[in-house]
Amino acid sequence: MAEIIIEQTPSKVKTIKNITGQKFGRLTPTGNTKYVIYKGGGRRVLLRECLCECGKSCYVITQRLLGGNTKSCGCLKREQTIQRNTKHGYAKSKEHDCWVRLNQRCKNPNNKAYANYGGRGIKVSDRWQGKFGFINFLSDMGPCHNKAYSIERIDVNGDYEPANCKWASDIEQSRNHRIRKDNVTGMSGVYFLGAGKRVRRWQACISDGNKTIYLGIFLTREEAIAARQEAEARYWGRLSKNLCQGVQINSNA
Ligand SMILES: [Zn+2]
Repeated sequence: MAEIIIEQTPSKVKTIKNITGQKFGRLTPTGNTKYVIYKGGGRRVLLRECLCECGKSCYVITQRLLGGNTKSCGCLKREQTIQRNTKHGYAKSKEHDCWVRLNQRCKNPNNKAYANYGGRGIKVSDRWQGKFGFINFLSDMGPCHNKAYSIERIDVNGDYEPANCKWASDIEQSRNHRIRKDNVTGMSGVYFLGAGKRVRRWQACISDGNKTIYLGIFLTREEAIAARQEAEARYWGRLSKNLCQGVQINSNA
C-alpha cells in the first residue's frame, strides 16, 4: 500500500463501530485500528487489523471490509489465480493443444510452420496470449466438441483472433487454404499443364473428402476456373475464396 501514509497520532478518534470478532469472508477483525491518510486526498481512512484464515494478519479499509470487497489478506485472489491457470481441467485437451500450437506457429521462429504463419505476419490476439491467454481462448471459442476439428481462421490471411476463428474439420480447412505459392493459375485446383503441340492446356480438379475428382482439360484458364467453381458449388455448396490474379505465365511455357 505505497500510496498510504501512516498518521502517527490521530488527532481526534471518533467512536467507531465495534465489529471485533465478526467474520468477513476469511477475515476476522482483532479490534486493533489505525488511521491513514491517502497521499494527495487528505481523507482520513480507518483501517482495521484482521486475522486471516490463512494465519496472516493485515490491515483492511473498514468500508471495503463491511462492503464485502475485501475478503482475505490477498490469499483468496492468489488461490483463484492459480486455479484459473493450472486447474482449468484442460491441460492435456485438444483445446489447449490447439492454443499452444497456434501460438507456436505465430511466435516461435524455430517452429516448422512459422514461415507460413508468424513469418507471413499472422498474429495472435493479445487476449489469447500470456497468463490468461488460454482461459480467454477457451471462453471465446468454447470447447471443441468434435475430435476431428481444430481451429480455423475464416480469413486465411487474417490473425488468430476471436472474430476470425472457428472450430472446423480438416476437410473444411483444406477448402479454405491459402493458395499455394507455386500455383500459377490463381486458383486452387486449376493447373497449367504446359503447351501441347499447338495449344496450352489447363486442368481442373476438386477434392471431395479424400477423393480427387478430375474435372477435365480445358483450352483456357477461364474455362478451367469456371469448371472448378461449378464443381465447388456442386460438391461443397459454396465457392472458395481463393481466386486471385495468378502469376503471369511465360507464353513459351
Ligand atoms: Zn489469507
